Amino acid sequence: MRDLSAGPRVLLRRLRELMAEPLDPQERLDRIVRQIASNMVAEVCSVYVLRSDGVLELYATEGLNPEAVHLSQLKMGQGLVGTIAASAQPLNLSDAQAHPAFRYLPETGEEIYHSFLGVPILRAGRTLGVLVVQNKASRTYREDEVEALETTAMVIAEMIATGELKKITKPGLELDLTRAVTIEGDGYNEGIGLGHVILHEPRVVVTNLLNEDAESEVRRLAEALGSLRISIDDMLSRRDVATEGEHREVLETYRMFAYDQGWVRRMEEAIHNGLTAEAAVEKVQSDTKARMMRLTDPYLRERMHDFDDLANRLLRQLTGFSGRSIGEGMPVDAIIFARAMGAAELLDYPRERLRGLVLEDGAVTSHVVIVARAMGIPVVGQAVGAVALAENGDAAIIDGDDGQLHLRPVSDVLKAYEEKVRLRARRQEQFRALRDVDPVTKDGKRISLMMNAGLIVDLPHLPESGADGIGLFRTELQFMIASTMPKLEEQEAFYRNVIRQADGLPITFRALDIGGDKVVSYFRAHEEENPALGWRAIRLSLDRPGLLRTQLRALLRASADAELRMMLPMVTEVAEIHAVRDLLQKEVQHLSKFGHSLPRKLQFGAMLEVPALMWQLDELMAEVDFVSVGSNDLFQFSMAADRGNARVSDRFDMLGRPFLRILRDIVRAAERNKTPLTLCGEMAGKPLSAMALIGLGFRSVSMAPTSIGPVKAMLLSLDADRLTETLNAALDDRQPREPVRELLTRFAAENGIPV
Ligand code: PEP
Ligand code: MG
Repeated sequence: MRDLSAGPRVLLRRLRELMAEPLDPQERLDRIVRQIASNMVAEVCSVYVLRSDGVLELYATEGLNPEAVHLSQLKMGQGLVGTIAASAQPLNLSDAQAHPAFRYLPETGEEIYHSFLGVPILRAGRTLGVLVVQNKASRTYREDEVEALETTAMVIAEMIATGELKKITKPGLELDLTRAVTIEGDGYNEGIGLGHVILHEPRVVVTNLLNEDAESEVRRLAEALGSLRISIDDMLSRRDVATEGEHREVLETYRMFAYDQGWVRRMEEAIHNGLTAEAAVEKVQSDTKARMMRLTDPYLRERMHDFDDLANRLLRQLTGFSGRSIGEGMPVDAIIFARAMGAAELLDYPRERLRGLVLEDGAVTSHVVIVARAMGIPVVGQAVGAVALAENGDAAIIDGDDGQLHLRPVSDVLKAYEEKVRLRARRQEQFRALRDVDPVTKDGKRISLMMNAGLIVDLPHLPESGADGIGLFRTELQFMIASTMPKLEEQEAFYRNVIRQADGLPITFRALDIGGDKVVSYFRAHEEENPALGWRAIRLSLDRPGLLRTQLRALLRASADAELRMMLPMVTEVAEIHAVRDLLQKEVQHLSKFGHSLPRKLQFGAMLEVPALMWQLDELMAEVDFVSVGSNDLFQFSMAADRGNARVSDRFDMLGRPFLRILRDIVRAAERNKTPLTLCGEMAGKPLSAMALIGLGFRSVSMAPTSIGPVKAMLLSLDADRLTETLNAALDDRQPREPVRELLTRFAAENGIPV
């Protein structure tokens, strides 16, 4: 056997020439296997390509019977080749026939070959096929030969990925790379979107695979690694890592990987085998990912994501590739794929081009989902593996109703969805027809249906939905999309615009609710162990009164001669309300001193989100003009279940007895104190839970604009008093047999209420 140390470079150079020649695909593949066999002094070299039906088909061979090409087939997991594909691991055998997985394919004539080396053909961690060399003599291939064959496999991966092999694929069959995939996730926001994939963290596509000079590539790698390490150390040394959205633990893991000598050594080896620095990063990333993707342990899978992110950062360092395809290059029907995303990042995308959002993590009341809901785009969460399976530009269908995601859908699925979209449009039409119908229950209770908003783009929904007004205006969204703190004049102009567009309908502005998971990049907060329980919302505003006073001044000025309704988030003690009232008073005095017009009427309210307020209800209601329940936070804090963590947020039911009893106590206190009451959390927007709220006695609810139609359709058929009776009996029952959700569902079905 010839020494191969110089071999891989010569081979790769020759392959590069072959890739550039104007050959038909079969001819190119035939020449490639011939070249590999000759260079590696192997009697056989074969390429198996994975088809969408899970079969590995022989696409080219040097040494085996040529008649077997496009005939020999093995299923995933079957034979040596299928084992390599299924495990994404090489097999290096001196006596192939002795391996338990060996399967004899008579048409190939391979029985005379004893030694066998097969490697997976990988791209972005996905297995696209298997590359094999065989020798008659019994021998074990050296580590550097394994490495060389893996490197060569990348060239073939490139050929498969560019779609070149489609031309020699049997009619009616498809390659796995273009396979249709359906992923079952959770529907976080309803709606159907047909469009094309945009990866939120796009992968760098390495096209420059083969190096001219290994030493200079090793230097480039070392430099890029150096900058990467510095940037991670920098991030870690900042006291506010949490405000950057990158949790300390993740950064610590990044650092661990970035200094890992094994990783660096494997990349350097790949460079010495002929790859450019970026191709070496991609190769090792792909190998590692392919192996880790098979892990089931969620902790280790999470670490795989961290490793993947880090390798992507390194690729970006090396290629200067900056990232997102926001703006002109973005398709007009984009479905964004992300592992996780902050609300502000979603707001960076142009709304008119968004057709959906796919998250691998997320939870139904996390802020990015709330923002997506406000924007009216379907969301599927918990879509495990979606990011790895998708390529930028792939066709996709997102089904937020059923929590499904269809990647590269076949034409039948596409047709079925086009039909579903038509049906939905018809249903929307019916809801639209309800726009001017008064939201009055069958037994004559007028329910005020308000919508939630936070951006100018939300405002056209007000007349379109027929909402009675804006029950929650999340002012922090404007702060989250700005790159610097909005100045007094900007805030005033913004609120003025909102008031003008609302055209006389009431708007409840909520004072800044930042902190927790609502990150404002230019506002440096301290690192916190538990941000949801930390320095946020009204707590932060009271400690930074300048921030709050500016907002109060802007709101007062924008509401001159009109009614101003405003409320405070995350109130924990009644004393906080006094403190804000004092500030408000000062602002009013300041404005009148300088001759500004003041609001005609000022309505001052509090959000009920912190359970401690449950034992201050009467004092609270004596102090405010209205109370609005923030059920997202009240539920999270009552159940001690992080609203952004799907593992716990869905564990308890909002329609379970404990939470409904909490809400009933609030309604009773509001009746006792004659305090107007509303609820503006996500539960108000689901017809079944909105029905429960009316049953509990709520007469005002605020929700995403798209929910107004379905909730109105529900309440038009509802006898509220009858439901109240049934619900009260269920909540007072000390030995309940039936979950309340089931009881409510049954009540709706028996009374023909659409929920
Ligand atoms: C809530 O907590 O229910 C709420 C409406 O506020 P946000 O979702 O903005 O925290
Ligand atoms: Mg809240």
